[in-house]
Amino acid sequence: MKGMRSWAEIDLAKLERNLRLIRKSIPSHFKYVSVVKADAYGHGILHTASRLMQSGVDLFAVANVKEANEIREMGSGWPILVLGPLLEEEDEALIDLDLIPSLSCLQEVKRFQSLSQTKKRKIKVHLKVDTGMGRMGVWWEKAAELFQAIKSAHGIELKGILTHFAEPANEEFSQMQRDRFQQIIKANLPNPLPSDFIIHADNSSSLKVLQKNSFFNAVRIGLLQFGVTPPIHSALAHLQVEPVLSFHAKLALVKDLPAQTSLSYGRLHTLGRDSRIGIISAGYGDAIPLHCGNQASALIRGTSYPIVGRVTMDQTLIDLTDAPRDLVNGEVVTLIGEQNGNKIPLETLALHGKTIPWELLCSITKRVPRIYLTKRE
Ligand SMILES: *Cc1c(COP(=O)(O)O)cnc(C)c1O
Repeated sequence: MKGMRSWAEIDLAKLERNLRLIRKSIPSHFKYVSVVKADAYGHGILHTASRLMQSGVDLFAVANVKEANEIREMGSGWPILVLGPLLEEEDEALIDLDLIPSLSCLQEVKRFQSLSQTKKRKIKVHLKVDTGMGRMGVWWEKAAELFQAIKSAHGIELKGILTHFAEPANEEFSQMQRDRFQQIIKANLPNPLPSDFIIHADNSSSLKVLQKNSFFNAVRIGLLQFGVTPPIHSALAHLQVEPVLSFHAKLALVKDLPAQTSLSYGRLHTLGRDSRIGIISAGYGDAIPLHCGNQASALIRGTSYPIVGRVTMDQTLIDLTDAPRDLVNGEVVTLIGEQNGNKIPLETLALHGKTIPWELLCSITKRVPRIYLTKRE
């Protein structure tokens, strides 16, 4: 990777493979809603969404109108669900881009009804129900009112209903959320439902407990399609998804320091012996979480070396005292990914960095070029 101090490699064949594996693990009539918010979890929405379009997703979900626009520019016709609440100033774009908003309240129903009349266009919507997340959505006990309002509103077509789990690791609480959701559905939706109506709640973390015969008929998957597993569910290991992204930097300087020398800001590490220290050409200004200092490691030529001292914006120190003497300037250092069969999963770096995989992926900065492997399997 000439000319690069740090870079993320993104293997699109793996993305495609992961999608196939996840699809195989859910009932075949289920729709697959691919969540590609936050620039496709840092993977780059353009390349990933266009590959996903070719590999059979049913719907895209994004956080906002700006992200939806990026997908719309790639191709008309794809249904795009906006997960976050819309600002009124975005209403125009909602129509122009033919998006599906998630509705949470009566004011939104009224707003979209008059928007539909002004623009002379029907608006498809999904109704979001708050079954215990305490964020978006109509509180489940008040959902009936909203169903009624949507039904009698002109120009608004209800195409789906969704809820979101607050603590997927807590099966009892999640089951309670499922029960509340089911109650709402039974009370307010016709049976049978229109064939294209979708009911969805499950994300990467809750997939494992998705009951095959449940009343759901769609999943909303983000993290897992990128081959990263949520921290709580080793039960997803059987899926054998593979990480799509790896992250690398280079060895920029090697120096010898005497025992008792303290390293980096805050002097959080003191050398116990005469040591050889390597300086990596990346820091938290690239993607390495601050708290990885004295916790995580990095790979060079397939061997793992500990990160020592505090991570800085542009540079990170590793202890190379036990490394071969012939390491050269420019040597590739892997912080997430694999070298000679030795792996550092993103999940591990996130753990060492006292963060979560989702946040770590969102912290890969603009300074890091994304290199795409576009080969097909
Ligand atoms: C981000 C998001 C998802 C996807 O979650 P993952 O854990 O990444 O699979 C699903 N639903 C909503 C509402 C989200 O905001």
